[in-house]
Amino acid sequence: MSIATLGLSQALAPPWDTKGLEITPITQIRVATGTWQTREQNRFVSGDYQHVPWARQIWYYPVREHYVHICLTDPTMVSFTICSLHGAEDRKTTMRAGKYLRRYYPQLGDIDISKYCATFKSVSRKLRLATTREEIRDVYLDGPNSCMSYDFPDLDAHPCEMYASGDLGIFYIENPSSQISRGANRVAARCLARIDKPEHIALSTAYGDYETLQAVLRNEGIPQENGLHFEGARLLREEVADDVYLCPYVDAHYQGGLHKNSIKIGYYRANSVDLQVTSGLTGDVFFCEGCDQTLPRTDQAQDHYCDACFADNYFICDECSGEYNILQDQRFYVDGSRYLCFQCYHLEYFECSQCWLIKPKTERSPSSEDDSYRQYCALCLPPVLEEE
Ligand SMILES: [Zn+2]
Ligand SMILES: [Zn+2]
Ligand SMILES: [Zn+2]
Repeated sequence: MSIATLGLSQALAPPWDTKGLEITPITQIRVATGTWQTREQNRFVSGDYQHVPWARQIWYYPVREHYVHICLTDPTMVSFTICSLHGAEDRKTTMRAGKYLRRYYPQLGDIDISKYCATFKSVSRKLRLATTREEIRDVYLDGPNSCMSYDFPDLDAHPCEMYASGDLGIFYIENPSSQISRGANRVAARCLARIDKPEHIALSTAYGDYETLQAVLRNEGIPQENGLHFEGARLLREEVADDVYLCPYVDAHYQGGLHKNSIKIGYYRANSVDLQVTSGLTGDVFFCEGCDQTLPRTDQAQDHYCDACFADNYFICDECSGEYNILQDQRFYVDGSRYLCFQCYHLEYFECSQCWLIKPKTERSPSSEDDSYRQYCALCLPPVLEEE
C-alpha cells in the first residue's frame, strides 16, 4: 500500500522517503503522516461538516487547523480541533458560539457577537407557526414571560386563544431539547403575526430570544414590518358576560371594533373596545382600584371597587343600609348576626358596664337610665343605693 492509495495529498506527505515503509494500522498511519488535516477538509467537502454561519463574513479568517463547524451532536454549539494531537485522535472540542468568537476573535464587540450567536442559533432552529387555539395557548404558557404568559383560571379559555381566527398566528422557535430538559421553557421566542395575506406578513413585538427569532424569520424570507399592518385583522369574538369579551393584550394595536362574529383590530367609531387589557377581558368592563383588575361591569359593587374589594373595604349597616369604610368608621357587631354603624348602634343598643355585653336598650336597667357613663343591664342591675 502506497501513500497515493491512501489518498494523501502530496503536500502533506512526509518529507522523507516512504518507500519500504512498514505497513502499519490505518490509525497509526494517520498519526504518523499528519493526514488528519485532509480528513477534516474532506468532511467539509462531503457535507459531513457544516460551516459556521459567519464563515463568509469579510472579517473572518479561520483559525488554522481548527476546522470549526456546527457540532454534529448538538447543533447549538460549535465544534473544532483544539490541537494537532487531538486532530490525530479525531477528538473535538465543543463550545458555545459566543465563547468561541470571544476567545478567538477578540476584536469583535459584544453587539457583533450576539448578532452572530443569533444567526448561529437560527441555523439549527425551525420556524414554527401556531394557529389553533390549543397551540397558541401552549406557546404562551410554555414560553417567555409577558402579561399573557399566565394561566387565567377564572376565565373559560386563555385570552390568547382569540388569536386563532385564521387572520393571525404566533411565530415561534423552540429551545434545544437539552435546554428544555434542564428546565427551560419549550418556547424560546414568540411573535404575533398577521398571516392572512402571505405576501404581506406583519409582525408584532417579539418576546424571549428575539434576536434568534428575527434571524430565523430572515432566513425564511419574512420581512420585519410594523404593527400598523394589523388593522382589519380579526380576533375571535367570545362573549363571557353581557357585552364582555375574552381578549388578549394586543401589542400591535390598542383598539378594536366589535363585529358580528369577530373583534377587528383598528379604530372603529361604533362598538369600539380596548385591546390592551391585561385581565383577559374587554367590552363593558371597569377597573377596580382595590385589586387592579379589569372586571365585568356586573361585578362592580361601587364606583371604584369590585364586589370582593368592596367587601374588604366597606361594610353596609344592617339597620340603615348606609356604606361605611371599615378602617375609618366604627362597626358594631350585635345579636350575633348584625353589623351596625355608630349611629344605629347608639340608638338601639348599649354596653353593660358590669358584664360588658352589648344588649338592646329594652334590656337596660331602669335605674341606670340617667347615668350616661355607666349603664347596666337588667340582670346586672346594681342594688339601689341606700343612704347609710
Ligand atoms: Zn377588586
Ligand atoms: Zn346605620
Ligand atoms: Zn350586664
